[in-house]
Amino acid sequence: MRKPIIAGNWKMNNTVSQTSALLNQLIPLVKDAACEVVVCVPFTSLFEAVRLTKGTNIAVGAQNVAWAEKGAFTGEISADMLIETGAKYAVIGHSERRQYFGETDESVNKRLNTAVGKGLKAIVCVGETLAEREGGITEKVVKAQIENGFKGVSAADLQSVILAYEPVWAIGTGKTATPQDAQNTVSYIRGVFTSLYGTQNANALRIQYGGSMNAANADELMAQPDIDGGLIGGASLNAADFARVVMYKNLRG
Ligand code: PEP
Repeated sequence: MRKPIIAGNWKMNNTVSQTSALLNQLIPLVKDAACEVVVCVPFTSLFEAVRLTKGTNIAVGAQNVAWAEKGAFTGEISADMLIETGAKYAVIGHSERRQYFGETDESVNKRLNTAVGKGLKAIVCVGETLAEREGGITEKVVKAQIENGFKGVSAADLQSVILAYEPVWAIGTGKTATPQDAQNTVSYIRGVFTSLYGTQNANALRIQYGGSMNAANADELMAQPDIDGGLIGGASLNAADFARVVMYKNLRG
């Protein structure tokens, strides 16, 4: 049984004081969640988020992590720096990092190996653009992202990984993949992991859907057999909306 995991990706939103306000609203709303709950906050909010969520069921994550341990990498944040704040998770390879900051499968791979080697849990993002979807190459794209992104990652390391399938055309656009489309691609992705790591390891891997997942569509998406959670952008910035996603109705029966 895979325990579902729902993570908020706050992106570049919320100062420290805004972080306190949002988390103080969120904490009571999600205290009875059946799934794991994570908030991936800006680096500057990590200490405050960890302090406020201590003793609650909310874990804290960052939105990136450097591949290097330390040194001359201006603007980067190392795994050790994150770990010392109390952060447990790091998002790696988000499409906005790929699109605006030159992130590639190779840099994702280096960040991932460092993160899991240091003991962080990695939320690794893959997904196709609209042109790739319309060109019928979604499967080819996500397969390559996984094969290149996971080089050198052992089956033991895979236990520290959550895979987020995020069709780029659905992120921040209000367009969501239909539950069936999302399930089809997530199931395909599980198959890719089966060929890389074997059935048992692939079946243990938690795969999230991300892309305009919100209070209105979470129940149906979470009802899909291979979807084990969500990576939530816009809807995670409102406590009631994010709480409704986290407290999704289990339609699987
Ligand atoms: C994301 O940031 O990973 C995301 C899925 O954003 P949104 O929910 O706003 O589409």
